[in-house]
Formats: sequence, structure tokens, C-alpha cells
Amino acid sequence: MPVEPDKNLLNGLNTGVSIVRYPGNVIEWVNEHLITMCGAHTAEDLTKHRAIEFYANPKAQEQGRRLVERILRQGHGALREMPFRRIDGRLIYVDMSGEKLPTPDTQNNDDGRILWTLIDVTQRHRLNNRLSRQALLDPLTNLANRRAFDEAFDRALQRTKRQHRMLSIVILDLDGFKLVNDKFGHEAGDHVLKTVSQRLLANIRQTDFVARLGGDEFVMLIDDGQNREATTTLMEKLDHAIREPILLPNGTPTQIGVSIGIRVHDSAENSAPGILLRHADQALYTNKTHKADRVQAWAFYNETIPHRRNPFQQLLQQSALVVHYQPILDNRQRKIVGIEALARLQDNTGKLWVPGEFLPRLQTSDLFELSKQVMHQALHDLSELDGMGWQLWVSINIDPRAVSENCSACIHGLIEQFHIAPERICVEILETGEFKERDTGLSRLMELKELGIQLALDDVGSAYSSLLRIKEMPIDKIKLDQDFVRFLEQNPQDIHFIESVLDLAINKKMDLVVEGVETGQILDAVSVLGVNLIQGYAVARPMPLTQLREFLMREPDIKHRQHPITLFGLYAKQTHFHHLLRAVLLQNPRLLTAEHLRNTQLCPIHNDINRLQFHDGHPLHILHENYHRAMAQTVTDLADGTDIPDTNHIDAVNAQMEEALLQVMRQ
Ligand code: C2E
Ligand code: MG
Ligand code: MG
Repeated sequence: MPVEPDKNLLNGLNTGVSIVRYPGNVIEWVNEHLITMCGAHTAEDLTKHRAIEFYANPKAQEQGRRLVERILRQGHGALREMPFRRIDGRLIYVDMSGEKLPTPDTQNNDDGRILWTLIDVTQRHRLNNRLSRQALLDPLTNLANRRAFDEAFDRALQRTKRQHRMLSIVILDLDGFKLVNDKFGHEAGDHVLKTVSQRLLANIRQTDFVARLGGDEFVMLIDDGQNREATTTLMEKLDHAIREPILLPNGTPTQIGVSIGIRVHDSAENSAPGILLRHADQALYTNKTHKADRVQAWAFYNETIPHRRNPFQQLLQQSALVVHYQPILDNRQRKIVGIEALARLQDNTGKLWVPGEFLPRLQTSDLFELSKQVMHQALHDLSELDGMGWQLWVSINIDPRAVSENCSACIHGLIEQFHIAPERICVEILETGEFKERDTGLSRLMELKELGIQLALDDVGSAYSSLLRIKEMPIDKIKLDQDFVRFLEQNPQDIHFIESVLDLAINKKMDLVVEGVETGQILDAVSVLGVNLIQGYAVARPMPLTQLREFLMREPDIKHRQHPITLFGLYAKQTHFHHLLRAVLLQNPRLLTAEHLRNTQLCPIHNDINRLQFHDGHPLHILHENYHRAMAQTVTDLADGTDIPDTNHIDAVNAQMEEALLQVMRQ
């Protein structure tokens, strides 16, 4: 136990100190710092009060009383962040610790004096408070987060049980959010999430609860009272509110939708919170699969989803399918070797709807039906073409989601029916969809392969998974995404993509089909690069069977071409040659001789420039000669002992030549 304290010393301290006598809570003495800390001017301002009066609330008073008891018994004790009321009424938080002072005149444990040390920790308390609030809030939307939801869910379930009420667990997932995010950027995506959060908050009652689970997923707890009608009304309101246009920060208006899954919990049942949430999630998932034909945005767990077939689904059912075929050219054989079957739906006005218009309105089950019908028609037409002497292969598009269990059996049946050799059938898997579960997806594809049919990966480069899929799947053909091809004249540097994918295809022993070959110039360029299978408007547009027969009879005007025939083709050739020469120069320069390089006449590009009617002395010839001279010089330098070839120089001379070709082409 300390001896009587030195008050002079205590007055100099930077913490509050007081001496209080018990029972009675009589403040005997306070130091200077405590006077300021408590908002007082003189010691008397404090000593005229009883110590217990400074606690901010009854709970704190009770804690303080128990602490005093403990200190008087044990000699010391402390409490953290106790709320104190200053004499000016302000609330502060204080870490307090007490030491019992010697009281020789009494043996009673309730009597005694305590030396208190008090530190103002109001700032720290506020900071802690803010942090723990943040731990429960989603920083973007300021809605409750997953953790806060878990706590609220437990409380709500207990309340429901006590009050014999019903509780709806509602999961909401935005439709079309990813599109906004991808198209307009994350700032726009964030804006949408914040707006939706405000709209959700504005539409629920005080007794309901909403949290953001992450991404574009929200969860709500709705107090249903005795029936679920309230929930249905609320869902209508929410759906409507979310669909209202949203003005993005860049001024563009946008609109998104929502899918909702609901699990109604009855106070009598005993399901765990995790199960209830999973049920709501299942309802959401089933609901999403009916996005194309459902009549409302929400669905209850374990109930059939009210839906209505949309006009495209009806057309599909009514055999309104028309298959068009787009020829695929084999550049080496210079003839059409295959066709791609492309679906169209014809309505009763005769209008042909293209996939871009009807695919988004079809369900997964419809997609399977579509591919089945297309394949039936295509194999039928193929055997007809066979009869006329054209042995072509046919490509059929299948959405990965439609590669189901009975896919393989179905294709097998059709192969038998039409007596078509399976290797003449190629299934194109679209990159746009994902397999539901990768492993099952893969084993289904293996089943297809076992039938002997070919597999192609379509639109490679349009999604992120291409390379992974090429690595994992038993692919025979890849089709480069048209976006790399259709705009090639505007983006000539995309030639490098085609070169690289072609390399990949060759190394992986796959065929490469380049589609989107819209113009003669692109056809020329990809031919020069060594692409063999070509599809696009420059060869032919998709057409009905009757037209295809005429087209095949006419023999397309591609027989005896020598590429390049256009300046763009020449550009591609220069790019390609430079790429190859540069690689040899870096890897094995001894294969190159300065003498041969200097002789421009030996280079096929020299003849190409002549063939394209640019005679000696034309700047293109001069630049071409410069290029060869630079190459020859680099090889000479290497022979003379230079360690590393000066690629900067030859790249620059090549760039001049390429630029000139593009300029002449654009004149
Ligand atoms: P895809 O499989 O990549 O088919 C090529 C699409 O590009 C076709 O459009 C074709 O008309 C178009 N096209 C071909 N050459 C050129 C060209 O040089 N320039 C331009 N601008 N376009 C060209 P279509 O017929 O509208 O088909 C679009 C997509 O719809 C197809 O892309 C395919 O993903 C899907 N699709 C078509 N038929 C079916 C089907 O039966 N089932 C499924 N699941 N999807 C299909
Ligand atoms: Mg395709
Ligand atoms: Mg494609």
C-alpha cells in the first residue's frame, strides 16, 4: 500500500489524479490536470460533488461502485473507457485506475481512501467506435455488410420465434450489371451499386434489414407478420424501383434489372440460418435460368416459376428454324471444303431473325433444342450435297450450357440416321458461355470426341478463358474472334495476333479458321500470313441451301490467285518476313549472308512490288532496298565481331517501309 502521496508531485502530472474517501464518495483532493479534464476552473468545482455523480449513466455508476469495492478489498483495480460527464455536460471517456491509501483508523473493508489516476481517452474511444462500425458496414454503399447480416439474421430468427411470425430471406442479384461495369468502367459500376442501395433502403420498412453480400448481390430480411403477401408487394416495388433509369456520372442513362430468390421461414421450423440462406440462393438461381421467359423478377424457394414462352421460344417450338450456310475456303486447295450452319428464325411475316436478336431470349433448354434442330437440318442438307458430289464438312454451334448429358446420344442418333462420317461434323463451342461445372463439361466433350466428331473453339480471344480451354480441351480447330480480323485494315498491328494464334495452332496441331474476312484486302493479308481456312464476306455471306448449291456450282473466283494481290497483302508480307528474318538474325545469324541479303532481286517482295505495277525507282522499291541494305549491314557487323545485332536500326527501316505501304494504300 502506498504511503501518503506527495501532492506537489501529483500536481505536476499530465494525468488526472484525485483522492476519494469511501463510503460517501467524498472527493478530498484533485490535481490541476483533473480540474481542466473535467471542464472545471477550481478544485472546489469538483470537490463539492460526490465522485459517483461523474459517471455518465447508471450502468457506469454500477461498474464504478464494484470497482471501488474491489480496490478497497484487494488494494488496486482499473477500468477502461468509462463514460464520464464533465461539469459542463460534455461526455468524455476515461481509463481509470485506483490504489487504496492507508487508513490506520479503520479495519472496515467498506471504508477507505482511493488514489485515482484518470486518463482522457475520448479520441481513442471515438476511433475504435468508428472502426468497429466500419467492420460492419460495406464501405461503398454504406449498407450493412455480410458480418452485420449474420448478426442481424440470428437476432431476426430469435425474434420470429418469440413472436410466432414469419420471416422472408430475400437474395437479390442485379441483371445487366456486369455489362455496365465492362462498358462504362468501375466508376459507373460503383455508381449503379450506390444508387441501387439507396433505392433498396428507400423502399423497405424500419423493421426490415438490407445488406450487401458482395459484388452485385444483396440480401434482405423482411418481417412478414403472419403471411407473405407483404413480401410480394414489396418485391413488386423493389423491382420497379431498380428498373428506373440510372444516370451514370458521364451523363449516360442506363437501366438494369434484378433477379430475386425468396425463402419464407416459419417460426415453427428449425432450419439453420445457413440452410435458409442457401434455399434463397437456390430460388435465385432457378429464377435466373428463367430470365428469358419468367413473368416476374422474384421466385419463392421450392415453387415453380411462373413463366410464359416468349415469341422466339414459340417460333423454335413451331419449327420456324431456317439454317443458312457460310462456306469455308481452303486456301491451299483453293476450294470450299466446309460450311458453317448458322441458325435463323422466320416469323409469320417472313422476317428472318438472326442469332444476335433471338439467342439472348432463349433458355438453356431452348439452346439445346436449337442445336439439335440445326444439326438435324444440317446433316440432312449435307447428305443432299453429297448426292450432288460435294463432300463438305459442316460446323455446328453449340452453347457450352447446352452440352448436356444426352448431347452425345442425340448426335450419335443423327449420325446413324444420315450416314454421315462423324469426322465431317465439327461442333463449335462458343466462348461466350461457361460450362456449368468445368469437369462435367470436359467429360461431356470427351464423349463427343469419342463419337469421332471434331471440336472447334469459336471466337477465340473474345473471353478470358481461351488459352486455358485450349490447354484443357481436346480441340481440333480454333476460330479467331472476328474482332481481330474485321478491322484489320484500320488496325494493321493486329496482324501480330493472327500470326501468334497461327503459331499456336501449328504447334498444338490444330487447324486455324480465320473468320470475319470481310474484304479482298484482308483475304489477301491472311493468305500471305499462311492462314489456310478462311471464312467471311470476302468469300461468301451465309446463304440458304439453294443459293449454296448455285454458289458451289459457280466455283468462286479464287482459283489461280497469287498472293499478295493488294498493297495490304504486301504490307502483311513485309511484316511477316521481317518478323521471320529478325527471329533468324537473333537466333542463328550464320544462316544469313550479307551478299544474299544485299541482292534485293532475290526477295519475293521485290517481284511483288513489280507485279503490283510499281516500277524501278518508285519509293517502295527504294525503301525495300534500304531495308535489305540495313539487314546486310547488320549481318556484316555481326561477322566483324559485334556481339548483339542492332535490331533498333532494322526495326526502324522496316517501319519506314511498312508506313509507306500503308500510305500508298490509303491514297
Ligand atoms: P459465329 O459462330 O462466330 O458465326 C459467325 C458469324 O459472323 C455469323 O453471324 C456470320 O454471319 C458472321 N460473319 C461471317 N463472316 C463475316 C464477315 O466477314 N463480316 C461480318 N461482319 N460478319 C461475318 P450470325 O449468323 O449472325 O451468327 C452470330 C452468332 O450466333 C454466331 O457466331 C454463333 O455464335 C451464334 N449462332 C449461330 N447459329 C447458332 C446456333 O445454331 N446455336 C447457337 N448456340 N449459336 C448460334
Ligand atoms: Mg461459329
Ligand atoms: Mg465465331
